[in-house]
Amino acid sequence: MTGLTMPKSDEATLGRRAEIVTALRAIVPGEGVVDVTNEMRAFESDALTAYRQLPLVVVLPQTVAQVSRVLKYCHENNVKVVPRGSGTSLSGGALPLEDAVLLVMSRFNRILEIDFPNRVAVVQPGVTNLGITKAVEHEGFYYAPDPSSQIACSIGGNVAENSGGVHCLKYGLTANNVLGIEMVLINGDIIRLGGKHLDSDGYDLLGLMTGSEGLLGVVTEVTVRILQKPTTARALMVGFPTSEEAGQCVADVIAAGIIPGGMEMMDRPAIHAAEDFVHAGYPLDVEALLIVELDGPVVEVDHLIAMVEAIARKNGATTCVVSQSEEERMIFWAGRKAAFPAVGRISPDYLCMDGTIPRKELPKVLAGMRELSEKYGLRVANVFHAGDGNLHPLILYDANIPEQLHKAESFGADILRLCVKVGGVLTGEHGVGVEKRDLMPEMFNDTDLNQQIRVKCAFDDKHLLNPGKVFPQLHRCAELGRMHVHQGKMPFPDIPRF
Ligand SMILES: Cc1cc2nc3c(=O)[nH]c(=O)nc-3n(C[C@H](O)[C@H](O)[C@H](O)COP(=O)(O)OP(=O)(O)OC[C@H]3O[C@@H](n4cnc5c(N)ncnc54)[C@H](O)[C@@H]3O)c2cc1C
Repeated sequence: MTGLTMPKSDEATLGRRAEIVTALRAIVPGEGVVDVTNEMRAFESDALTAYRQLPLVVVLPQTVAQVSRVLKYCHENNVKVVPRGSGTSLSGGALPLEDAVLLVMSRFNRILEIDFPNRVAVVQPGVTNLGITKAVEHEGFYYAPDPSSQIACSIGGNVAENSGGVHCLKYGLTANNVLGIEMVLINGDIIRLGGKHLDSDGYDLLGLMTGSEGLLGVVTEVTVRILQKPTTARALMVGFPTSEEAGQCVADVIAAGIIPGGMEMMDRPAIHAAEDFVHAGYPLDVEALLIVELDGPVVEVDHLIAMVEAIARKNGATTCVVSQSEEERMIFWAGRKAAFPAVGRISPDYLCMDGTIPRKELPKVLAGMRELSEKYGLRVANVFHAGDGNLHPLILYDANIPEQLHKAESFGADILRLCVKVGGVLTGEHGVGVEKRDLMPEMFNDTDLNQQIRVKCAFDDKHLLNPGKVFPQLHRCAELGRMHVHQGKMPFPDIPRF
């Protein structure tokens, strides 16, 4: 692994590998346990491919009882566990550890119930995001959050990362579309949070679990909201001579009270890469391109299209094309949806960053990125969810040139620092994982971080679930109690101290 410090492997666990594999085989029979090196290679990284590590062993359970027994065994035997869905995480959340079981949830791939009257679907966590829409579209329904990876990523992974997508500006992130989950805790306990009802029945633990990146438990069932497809959707493709004007247009659209179904922006390098790849008809003489989609009843959409067009013209748009058919709307989106692979064609490697800023800071951040690009001598292409202020700078590098990965990582870290400096946050939708772990102190002080670790301790006191992710430093749970020594009396004297 390059430039990344992970928790030290536990020699005792490595020495007990054969015994652990045998115990896991007794729980998950047949092909559910993979311990041959060549077969485990398929799991050695997620979509943050700069980092790779073979796991101790791969386990693919098929039932909730198996998940529960595997976790209980690992808890009792102090074996670490890394949960994994489809392995499309861009922040290294599913990166294996040498001394950890990789618990792959892809065999949980069944739709359990579709309840159209209540507008919910109950699915297993390995079902793909797009698979949910496919299961309900015959009745005119869909599942709204739409990560670009939706053909592959699992709904369990979406819950763990609180994933977003183009349509989340209007319809909310995963957190706003998940109503309930079943989850197995590290000691094997099975809990249910939420359900088909619309309000939480206690503390909002569902909110806590959404975005917990596999650190608090393993999701084994998900109840999602399904929506009726809007009657019409039309898109505008708007080009601007500067990103400042495009950014102002975004701000003005929102200020006018319009919430588009999606509002995405690409800068010049991203526009050119996407156009070369999918020939969507994007203008090549502009610095920034906005794709704005309006959806709803026909009359409303026509009215809003005219309003957005007027706002765009007022902000100096040089190209403004409105889709006239469903095919044309899909072509406008095709370039944006394929922007990542398109950029992959112009550079051997790229790092995809994910930060969020207040929308009005966009010009400042883009200018800062241009300076950083010169400083590091690396190109950057920008694709982002403009309406949400969620940036995805793609830093282009060549892993075969020594030092370029390291430079790209430093460049990425500086971009995220810039996001925090202008009042934004380190992540929008890709999670912290290992990628942004060491930058957490840029945003949180020790008190903030310790408070978050206490939540982790409440669910996983031995830090066995996905260690080395999210938190820059592991604290023993008991250690956090040291602050509360009162009159020389240690709280919980039975807990081992250091
Ligand atoms: C080309 C491309 C485009 C992308 N576009 C987007 C986008 O538009 N929006 C977006 O938000 N993301 C995007 N992503 C990132 C990624 O697809 C999401 O983070 C997705 O939610 C990960 O799902 P997964 O099933 O692949 O999870 P994995 O990568 O397998 O795991 C991700 C995290 O979830 C945890 N996890 C997985 N399953 C479970 C479970 N059942 N229980 C508990 N924890 C679990 C893992 O431990 C890990 O921490 C993109 C990725 C790629 C490669």
